[in-house]
Amino acid sequence: MIGLDSPIETVLGDQATKRKKIVEGLGLRTVGDLLRHFPRRYVKTGELTKVAELEDGQMLTIVGQITRSKVNTYTDRRTGRTAYRLDTVVSTDGPSLKMTFFAKSQHVGEWHARRLPVGRRGIFVGKVSSFRQEWQLTNPQMALFGPDDAGDESAQATLDSIGDLYPIYPLTKGVDSWDLQRAITFARTVLDELPELLPDAVREQYAVVDARQALDWIHAPDDYAQVGAAHRRYRFEEALVTQLVLMRRRRATQALGARARTGDQGRLLEAFDQRLPFELTAGQAEIGADLEHDLAQPHPMNRLLQGEVGSGKTLVALRAMLRTVDSGGQAALLAPTEVLAQQHHRSISALLGDLAAGGMLGGSEDATTVALLTGSMAKAQRAEAMLRIASGEAGIVIGTHALLEERVSFADLGLVVVDEQHRFGVEQRAALTSKAGAPPHVLVMTATPIPRTVAMTVFGDLETSTLTELPAGRAPIQTNVVPLAEQPAWIARVWQRVREEVGKGHQAYVVCPRITGDELEQGEADQRDLDEDGNETAAPAGSLAAVEDVVAELSEGPLHGLRVAMLHGKLPPDEKDRTMRAFAAGEIDVLVSTTVIEVGVDVANATAMVLLDADRFGVSQLHQLRGRVGRGGHPGLCLLVSRAEVGTPARDRLDAVASTTDGFELSRVDLEQRREGDVLGASQSGFRSSLQTLRVLRDEKTILAARAAAEDLLDRDPDLLESPLLGAAVESLEQSRQSDFMEKS
Ligand code: ADP
Ligand code: MG
Repeated sequence: MIGLDSPIETVLGDQATKRKKIVEGLGLRTVGDLLRHFPRRYVKTGELTKVAELEDGQMLTIVGQITRSKVNTYTDRRTGRTAYRLDTVVSTDGPSLKMTFFAKSQHVGEWHARRLPVGRRGIFVGKVSSFRQEWQLTNPQMALFGPDDAGDESAQATLDSIGDLYPIYPLTKGVDSWDLQRAITFARTVLDELPELLPDAVREQYAVVDARQALDWIHAPDDYAQVGAAHRRYRFEEALVTQLVLMRRRRATQALGARARTGDQGRLLEAFDQRLPFELTAGQAEIGADLEHDLAQPHPMNRLLQGEVGSGKTLVALRAMLRTVDSGGQAALLAPTEVLAQQHHRSISALLGDLAAGGMLGGSEDATTVALLTGSMAKAQRAEAMLRIASGEAGIVIGTHALLEERVSFADLGLVVVDEQHRFGVEQRAALTSKAGAPPHVLVMTATPIPRTVAMTVFGDLETSTLTELPAGRAPIQTNVVPLAEQPAWIARVWQRVREEVGKGHQAYVVCPRITGDELEQGEADQRDLDEDGNETAAPAGSLAAVEDVVAELSEGPLHGLRVAMLHGKLPPDEKDRTMRAFAAGEIDVLVSTTVIEVGVDVANATAMVLLDADRFGVSQLHQLRGRVGRGGHPGLCLLVSRAEVGTPARDRLDAVASTTDGFELSRVDLEQRREGDVLGASQSGFRSSLQTLRVLRDEKTILAARAAAEDLLDRDPDLLESPLLGAAVESLEQSRQSDFMEKS
């Protein structure tokens, strides 16, 4: 019996090397994997055309064999440069046709030639034209047959099975679409049974086709409507399983007991509010009330707080922390980096003033103590902090992942605030959760705006709150692209602007993509590789701006006389902290750094940011970075310096960032340009491996439908006993998340 779990070998031919490539190159191990290897696109074939009846301009689909193949050079009339093309002739059962492939470089020309050697057979689809009484195919799409398929029976069977749409599969070196199509066609015919995950009632209610239908329509469709229906089914299935996992987790958390923190044992929050030098924004007040309500429930809060950089999230979180202390508990704030933890510690201590001087002479009687715990602290300091945490003396604890260590124990941890979720995994959250006797309340903060469906998919087990307005008095940030490709001289003006800002008593950041000039970026070596269609994927990176070089150049050159310092991740932690302190204190004019300053660093007097090789950063990252300036009521200036040329995707990204400061808009741009795995990020979802067909942006409707279906299913049948296959899929996804957690911890 051949089933989805059968090893893929059972349906592959006996060419060992090809088998190995399919298994290793494409990661397909079982028949199920193979059948889930969906076509990347389809070629409309119509009938295989008889070449004898050709008409000019007609779309043509032929099976033929390459009989001539040669790379020739010619002069590109527009650029005057030498260009390359592969000239081939393909013979059919009628006349022969010419096919030409153009290439800008010899490299690409030769790549075409290797793909299309004399003797190669395949299906070619394109528009036919006649030129000097010869037929030719222009820019044909093609599916090439393996070299040894001639006269093979199963090859013929596969040819016969070709419908109106010819599937083109994602490939790996040494494997053709044809090889996969053969294996898949065979697997579909010998597969004994196909399990149906979706209950009939759900399929009917949401008009989703059954498993067998979907399989046939995805691999051998007659039209695009069938492809669409098949895709919809797979997406729905995936969305449903994902939503079931999240919803079950959410229900499980809800079912847990937690200590209600009603704030009736102290007056810290009240005292804090009284001395706040500003009014809460409407959003801060409203979300504050939601948090108080959540904290007062006898089951754990699990909430995501999102809002632009500077929207006042930390303040909202701090108020919830004070409320927890007022309830006799402790609150922990977990920061993604040492720099951030230290900064939070400084700014929270400053905001609290004498309210943070609990037990000390001159401290207010409502006061508590704020403890800091990071990995780089000296032993004695650490021991002291840990003692204060364990004894409960420290009502507020701020730290990095050092807080997650086993030896750290709390007296009564009531609330965990996780800052910048995108740097934290679900797993760390779980570890900190386990430190409280009962599950603590959890608040996750993120400045990366998360579109609704992403929130639903990645954080589907969280409630969300969004701060949409910035506190009054926040000055706008002006962003400009400095296009060095067209205007190389503008760089001088950039440094002049920096000097002007410093001249006004302000400070500036200069951000570089790397630390030293000689390190090769990951993946840079193979960047000249070709994509599946033979296009060069990227130009060589050239030398990117590096912190160490830039510091030297600037202090000797354009910024001579200013106080320039550097900050990057490889410096010793105490040096980093010292530099940040000095910058915050205004003792440094210009801070040259890597993206270590990306998250949350808050120096109100910094008004300018120069991003060198800005195209090297992602859209959301750029947006985050520029949020560092314009925080102190002075207008901010952000200069995106780039050598990217007009019309390239890199340049488009920069233009998008310059054109709006709406973080939600930008996060859409960003997500659309990335692949889904990157969007969700392994560390934060554990769904990376399982999200195959679902695209959280495109599939909003499907996700919403699946969410509704999941809710219904769980209401009627919480353990999915009536849908055992679906239950098994949910369990297996739950377990894969669990095992992700095990691997990382
Ligand atoms: P976020 O954490 O969202 O980046 P913060 O809470 O750090 O934002 O707030 C950014 C700055 O704005 C801080 O200096 C904070 O003290 C200040 N701030 C917060 N809320 C208000 C408000 N309602 N009015 C004025 N300033 C505020
Ligand atoms: Mg913040």
